[in-house]
Amino acid sequence: MTGIAQALPGERVHITTSPSTEPFWTAAQEDRLVAPRCGGCGTFRLPPTPFCPECQSTDVDWVQLAGRATVFSFSVVHGFPGLPDITIVPAVLDLPDAPGARLVSNIVGVDPDDVRIGMEVTVVFSEITDGWKLPLFEPVPYEDRPVR
Ligand code: ZN
Repeated sequence: MTGIAQALPGERVHITTSPSTEPFWTAAQEDRLVAPRCGGCGTFRLPPTPFCPECQSTDVDWVQLAGRATVFSFSVVHGFPGLPDITIVPAVLDLPDAPGARLVSNIVGVDPDDVRIGMEVTVVFSEITDGWKLPLFEPVPYEDRPVR
């Protein structure tokens, strides 16, 4: 039996920020998921970059997202140095309200056997070191799924 997918314990997660990434982390502290959209041409640029790869503009609008995502790809990792029993599911996520942007995060709170490409997930924020919060994603509750 595999365990439920977890995040690394917050005290083991350290981030570094730069002027181009800090707004992302500051928003996460407030439980908000944001993505940088080029002020010149409108291209979303994740991970954040100082210059737009499309038009070289340095203008950025930080757009607040709804926090929904779909799984583009994922892997299942059993064990981590010092944490032999942990199961981690790193994932690349599509962000429907930031077309073209993809976010690398972890899926949590689900049996890894139940994770699927295209699965809808929603953001949750988890405390890490130095007062920051890390956006993680868990499956959208069944009753909250849009009717198709
Ligand atoms: Zn641009």
